[in-house]
Amino acid sequence: MATSYWLDRSSDHKAKTFDILIVGGGITGASTAFWLKKEDPNLKIAILEKSRLAFGASGRNAGFITCGSVEHFNRMVSKHGEAQALEIWKFAETNMSLLKEHIIENEKSLEFEQRGAYSLAAESAEFNELKSVAQLMNRLNIGNEVLGSDQVEKRLGAFGFEGGIRYLKDGAINPYKLVKKIFDKSGCEFFDQTEVFAIESSTAGDRIVKTDNGVFHASIVVLCTNGYSGNLSSYFKDKIYPTRGQIMMVEPVEPFMDGPCYANFYLDYFRQLADGSLLIGGFRQLEKETEVGYSDHITDVIQSALHDFVQKHLPRFKDKKITHRWAGIMGFSQDGEPMIGALPEDNQVFFCGGFTGHGIGLAFHSGKCLSDLIFGHPIPEWISARRFP
Ligand SMILES: Cc1cc2nc3c(=O)[nH]c(=O)nc-3n(C[C@H](O)[C@H](O)[C@H](O)COP(=O)(O)OP(=O)(O)OC[C@H]3O[C@@H](n4cnc5c(N)ncnc54)[C@H](O)[C@@H]3O)c2cc1C
Repeated sequence: MATSYWLDRSSDHKAKTFDILIVGGGITGASTAFWLKKEDPNLKIAILEKSRLAFGASGRNAGFITCGSVEHFNRMVSKHGEAQALEIWKFAETNMSLLKEHIIENEKSLEFEQRGAYSLAAESAEFNELKSVAQLMNRLNIGNEVLGSDQVEKRLGAFGFEGGIRYLKDGAINPYKLVKKIFDKSGCEFFDQTEVFAIESSTAGDRIVKTDNGVFHASIVVLCTNGYSGNLSSYFKDKIYPTRGQIMMVEPVEPFMDGPCYANFYLDYFRQLADGSLLIGGFRQLEKETEVGYSDHITDVIQSALHDFVQKHLPRFKDKKITHRWAGIMGFSQDGEPMIGALPEDNQVFFCGGFTGHGIGLAFHSGKCLSDLIFGHPIPEWISARRFP
């Protein structure tokens, strides 16, 4: 893509110069800006966003701040080994403590709550697996609590589950307000309605970033475009897959649910917001073939499945009206963990993405790692893009 002189909206057609340009105004872009400025307050940094703040997945998610990863902890151990699975879990716990220390000062203003999160099993096989997860976690001193079906009904008003597990440190938040607060605290500039379509090298050695809102120069460019990254570099084509997630919301009832919940191996999820409304998402597994790509349309199959789940498991919302439906694009990585690095073809272009549906629980800490990498500090091997050939 390219923009003609006539459609270029920059008023003076003169290049704007910064030290670092961040592409993407979601939680990763805002977090990276925050940490870079913390490391060096004199840096001149701008975020370039094709639409508006948190327009991507960051403004369309469920707001769970989850520790761990995209699957039950025993499966993380099988995949990564015990030491690394524990390191990943602790990384997410640190994400939460960093957020609390630097951003979530007034819990009410961000609608933050930390009462733990639940993972529920409708089948006995999954419940048995969760019980073994609890044993493993107890051995590793990760706080958890196993619940039978009666406790699930009592605390969550959720029926038809064999039982579940509660992870004690998890929480939930208003994700848009979170991104806004991180960005406001970063002290960086923000250019909305500014789509980047090319990054080129100048003879002077800096990078020329071409957008539909003028030309920008910087010595370093950082891609925080997650699911959209494949549009900017072919490097991401086989590394970060754009994957759609859908959500439905139901009108409020008297608040009764103790905390946010996952079900069915993390694939489906729901939470009751402070005003009593229900947010429910998931069921991507029903349309695996079509829940990929950049379209953010909702589909009948998944929206019907979300509705059926409410009818079956959450009777207090049974006859309530649906108020919102939406979809967003996530970036799935090959192994489910985020990746941070510099492009092999250009070591002045850095990136962070591939959160595989868990960026709210990982991006603030990942932004710190990305800043560390740019400043030449070491970052954990499991999050480094060097793990992929
Ligand atoms: C339905 C749904 C539910 C989810 N639920 C949760 C949850 O409960 N908990 C959790 O931890 N995670 C959840 N996620 C995942 C989470 O939202 C993401 O991991 C996270 O928001 C990724 O943030 P990001 O800043 O990396 O990417 P994004 O928020 O997608 O931001 C990328 C930005 O880049 C911009 N952009 C792209 N290309 C260009 C370009 N060429 N020029 C300029 N700008 C560009 C986009 O407009 C976008 O704003 C969910 C996601 C979805 C879709």
